[in-house]
Amino acid sequence: MAWARFDNTGYIYYNEKTSKIFCTDSTHADLFDYVAEDLSLLTKLLGKYVSNKIDTTTFTFKDFPSTDDTLSEIEQLLMAAHPYYIYESTNVIINAIGNYFNNLLAYSSLHLKTLSRDCTLDKNWYIDRITVLLSPLLQAGDTYQEDFYYKYQKWINPKEYRIEESFITDIPTKMPIAFAEELKTQNMIYDMLYFILDISNQNLESLTLPQRAWVYENIFLSEKTSVKRQFSFLPLKQYIDDATNSQISFSHNEGANNLEESNKIFDILRNIKNTDIRHKGIPKNMMNAFKYATDYAKKNAPDKISEQYEINNLYQLLYLEIISMIQSNILIRKCKNCGKYFLIKNRNVTYCDRRDSSDMPCSAIGPKRSFQKKMEQDEALKIYTRAYKTHHARFRKGKMSLNEFGTWCKEAKANLIKARNEELDISVFQEWLKE
Ligand SMILES: [Zn+2]
Repeated sequence: MAWARFDNTGYIYYNEKTSKIFCTDSTHADLFDYVAEDLSLLTKLLGKYVSNKIDTTTFTFKDFPSTDDTLSEIEQLLMAAHPYYIYESTNVIINAIGNYFNNLLAYSSLHLKTLSRDCTLDKNWYIDRITVLLSPLLQAGDTYQEDFYYKYQKWINPKEYRIEESFITDIPTKMPIAFAEELKTQNMIYDMLYFILDISNQNLESLTLPQRAWVYENIFLSEKTSVKRQFSFLPLKQYIDDATNSQISFSHNEGANNLEESNKIFDILRNIKNTDIRHKGIPKNMMNAFKYATDYAKKNAPDKISEQYEINNLYQLLYLEIISMIQSNILIRKCKNCGKYFLIKNRNVTYCDRRDSSDMPCSAIGPKRSFQKKMEQDEALKIYTRAYKTHHARFRKGKMSLNEFGTWCKEAKANLIKARNEELDISVFQEWLKE
């Protein structure tokens, strides 16, 4: 089971089973990077993976060499898209394969009718195939194959389950695509950001964020999502235990020792429940412990109340993140340089602070880049500018006289105009510039 604990600076995600944990901060950069990611390659790769193992029309096995590289490629892509996938990618891929396989079967047996429904409902037939697809990801004791089989049976053969309505819904009428759920999640999250928080959406500007959320919900009528909330003022267990992890630990080096000490103190204080605080206040013999506890809390306890939710998929996590953003009245817009969303405090800001490979923030390279973009559309100007820089460098280093440089500039500019007017072929212009 996984949990996410939110406060007004971000969230901590914690998977109990694997003890994996990650944190996000108040910039929400993980979320913004995620919605900008192109996930369509996932569909192609998983489609390739499945069709290398099984013929997706006849569902007979194919005898190909190992294609497990595709799975690690998929894993890499997922991990690059959001930290959630770093910890949950195996599960996510297993679900993507199972759901894709079920959709393919339903499509073939109910829409195309190239396969008999009874054949696909034969448990051995089904398990043989899904096992081949899932085998690189399965661990001893996993029950995924059967789970997907029952899911399929419930969908395709609802009578079996004595569901009153024996009507089969959502039969695919188009060739199903792999990773449909993850793509859908990304789309829904993008739409939420765009309709609720993006300030460039001018029609919605006069509304408050909750009003915008209302408009969003009425348009999309998204499926209702329930999430379990755990009531506690204490941080996640790991948050306390893992005092060695600098990202999430207490700010004091002596944190670990202190923690042990504080547990002893609280053991004493827990007897307070058996005393009559209402009439007598805190017992005198506990005053020292109480003082220690409050001093400790002052240094180490969080000074924000946070909320903890059970998380079963990325959609739930990001939905909650967006709700926390709405509650904090956060506004966003797309950076004019990198095109990704970022958080704005001031409406005049148009570039974000993300850094590129040369460690320059968009806010510094943005204005320069828009000139470059203009140049890219203008091949002649681009090669001219490059040649100009080379010649100018020669002139600066004294390899070219002012006179020579001046003449070159004059001729180059004249040729540039000709090239842009298509009076001079661009390749001829390029050759001339090289001289
Ligand atoms: Zn940017």
